[in-house]
Amino acid sequence: MGAAALAERLVLHKERTSEGFFADTHHCCLGSDGPLPYSASRGKKSMNRQALDELKQQIPLLDYLQAHDWRLARPLHDSRWMGLCPLHRDHQPSFLLDPTKNLFYCYGCGVGGDVIRFAQLYHQVTFPQALALLQQWRGWGSWGQDVVEFYRMQLHRHGVAVEYLAQRGIHSPEVIEHMRMGYAPGGCLRTWQLQMQRPLSALSRAGLITAKGHDAYSRRVTFPLEGNLYGRSISALAPPHLFLPGSKGGLYGWEQVRHCPEVILVEGLFDYAVLWQAGFHHVTCALGIHLNGRQFRQLCDRARMIYLAFDADTNGSGPRAAQSLSGRLREQGLNVRTVRLPEGHDPNSFFVQGGDARQFQTLLEEARP
Ligand SMILES: [Zn+2]
Repeated sequence: MGAAALAERLVLHKERTSEGFFADTHHCCLGSDGPLPYSASRGKKSMNRQALDELKQQIPLLDYLQAHDWRLARPLHDSRWMGLCPLHRDHQPSFLLDPTKNLFYCYGCGVGGDVIRFAQLYHQVTFPQALALLQQWRGWGSWGQDVVEFYRMQLHRHGVAVEYLAQRGIHSPEVIEHMRMGYAPGGCLRTWQLQMQRPLSALSRAGLITAKGHDAYSRRVTFPLEGNLYGRSISALAPPHLFLPGSKGGLYGWEQVRHCPEVILVEGLFDYAVLWQAGFHHVTCALGIHLNGRQFRQLCDRARMIYLAFDADTNGSGPRAAQSLSGRLREQGLNVRTVRLPEGHDPNSFFVQGGDARQFQTLLEEARP
C-alpha cells in the first residue's frame, strides 16, 4: 500500500473511537449491509453478501492472526484482547481484537476492520486479492496439513528423493524434520484423497491437482510454508520451483529467529537447509531475491544486524538485489552486512562443494556493509 493510501486511511479513521467502530460493523470499509451484492472490483466481480459472511465466519480473525504469529498480550473485559500490532512497528500492545465480533482496531496506526480488511492491510493487496488469499487460506488451513504429512511419509519411501537431498548437501534427519520436508512421487494424492472421502474439488481449487487430475507437485521435494507449499523439482525437465497460487507468505521460519540480534537472510530453502544443518539457526529465507512488503516489515520490526547471503551468480542479479535491499534496510536504521560468497556460488553450493561451518563463519566475519 502506498503512503498516500495509508494517509487516506488514517484520515478516514481519525475521528472514530474503537467503540463507535465496533458498534458500526457495517461501515463502508467493512462492506454493505444492504441487499446489494458486495462489489469486489468496481462492479466487475462481485461476491454476494452471504458468501462474504460465510467466508468471514469460516475464518475467525483470532485464528488468522495467530497463524500469522500474532500473540495475545493482555486480556480486556468482555473477552477482548490487546496485542502488538502486526501492521506497524509496535512496541506496546495497541492492537485491539474482539474475537466475538471478529473485528480489530489499532490505536497506533488507526486502522481497523474485519478479517478481509486485515488481510488487505497485512499483505498489502487489493480487496479481490485479499478475498482470493483468504479463500486459499481457508482451503489450505483445514486440510493442507494433512497433505504435508502425507508427502512427509512418502519421502523415506522414495530413494530417489533422499538421493536428491543428499546431492543438495542435506543429510541430517534433524533438518528434514525441522523443515518438514516431504516428497510428492506423483499419481497418489488423488487416490489418497478419495480414500479419505474428501472432494477432489478442494485439491484442485488449491492447485494441488491439475485440471486433468494429475498431482501438480509430481516428482518434487515439498516444503510447507505459511498457507502455501513449495515444491522443488528433482528432475531437470520440469520448471525448478513451484508454489500454490497466492502469497509466498512471510519470511521462512521467522518465529524462530525474530528475537535474534543477528539474522542471516538467504534466497532459497536449500540455502536455509544447509546453513541450519551446519548450526546457523539464526537463518531465514525470503524465497527469492525480492522481498514482499510483509517480509520487509518483519526484518525491520526491531534493531538487528542482517547478513545478506544471496547468490553470487555470475549475471550479477543476486549481488544487485542484495545491494538494493541493503540500502533500503539501512534507511530503516538496520545494520546490514553483505556476505561475499565465491563467484558462482550460493550458500547451498558452498556447502555442497566442501565448505564447512568454520569457513562460512569466516565469511560472516569478513562481511562488509
Ligand atoms: Zn497498528
